[in-house]
Amino acid sequence: MSRYWSAVVHGLTPYVPGEQPKLPGLVKLNTNENPYGPSPKVLEALRREAADSLRLYPDPNADLLRAAIANYFGGIEPGNVFVGNGSDEVLAHVFLALLKHERPVLFPDISYGFYPVYCGLYGIEGKTVPLTDSFEIRVEDYLRPKGGVGGIIFPNPNAPTGCALPLADIDRLAAASPDAVVVIDEAYVDFGAESAVSLVSRHPNLLVVQTLSKSRSLAGLRMGFAVGHTDLIEALERVKNSFNSYPLDRLAQAGAVAALEDREWFERTRQAVIRSRETLVKALQDLGFQVLPSAANFVFARHPRQDGGELARRLRSRSIIVRHFKQPRIDQFLRITVGTDEQCAALIAALREILG
Ligand code: PMP
Repeated sequence: MSRYWSAVVHGLTPYVPGEQPKLPGLVKLNTNENPYGPSPKVLEALRREAADSLRLYPDPNADLLRAAIANYFGGIEPGNVFVGNGSDEVLAHVFLALLKHERPVLFPDISYGFYPVYCGLYGIEGKTVPLTDSFEIRVEDYLRPKGGVGGIIFPNPNAPTGCALPLADIDRLAAASPDAVVVIDEAYVDFGAESAVSLVSRHPNLLVVQTLSKSRSLAGLRMGFAVGHTDLIEALERVKNSFNSYPLDRLAQAGAVAALEDREWFERTRQAVIRSRETLVKALQDLGFQVLPSAANFVFARHPRQDGGELARRLRSRSIIVRHFKQPRIDQFLRITVGTDEQCAALIAALREILG
């Protein structure tokens, strides 16, 4: 508390990211990072870019990168793409540019913890919609809510549940909500769900947000983007250019282009994560865990006879960290990032010991 703080700061409840411990030798399965490194071509591009040209500002419009994203998806133009410093920054601009209206923004009761934080920052009314008893999003619950709808946002697959929604449901939701922007946060889509980018040309109110942090293993580079109708992109540009003209530096732009171009590395590593996930799910089930169906690079699991918080603490004392949320409905669950097969095996061995 300080008397120098603005009233806004006094009222904020900031997001708390998963910890990044400085201890060596941990099995770190708590922040959904990719266990494999980025493409060697990304590292080459970064080395090339680490040159005298760093004295110059980067391209404020990131033209080459936006062209690379359009080219990666096909069927969209660079003008349909907005880029930012991680998808968190893109999402922040989305809340101010497209979701701040008189009526509330809807998102699931169990979802990405940053959404209510952005609502608090920008003075937006957020309204949570409960997931079903099986922790799924039901599209009907977002149609014609009492109090109207100023916007809709959720991850697909959802976080921290990992459950995916079929594309037909997103198509239906966007078509049934023409007065509100529908934002699909696809941070984890490459590990098993279908991207709604293919739908944006049909829905002027549909915005899809993705990141290179997960399936391209570039959480440390900070690059995220949005795809949508040029009117939506223009709104985001207006906010961005009122905030920071150069959110992506020269290294991030060059590295991101190389990552999008190396489809072979992307395919190989994401398939490896998907395979490890299937092995991990089976091993957890064999230990008696209930595991929600995951289309992401993490699994959400609970044990019928072991407290979630206690399990997380006991794993930690064995140098394995997973994420536990002290939150209604999910405080018995652990969110476990899919690591390498060796890391997953270490987790299973530790759990077997703990469970006796
Ligand atoms: N959306 C969801 C659902 C996430 O889990 C995350 C990762 N914390 C993000 C967005 C943000 O990722 P980044 O800023 O690294 O792109």
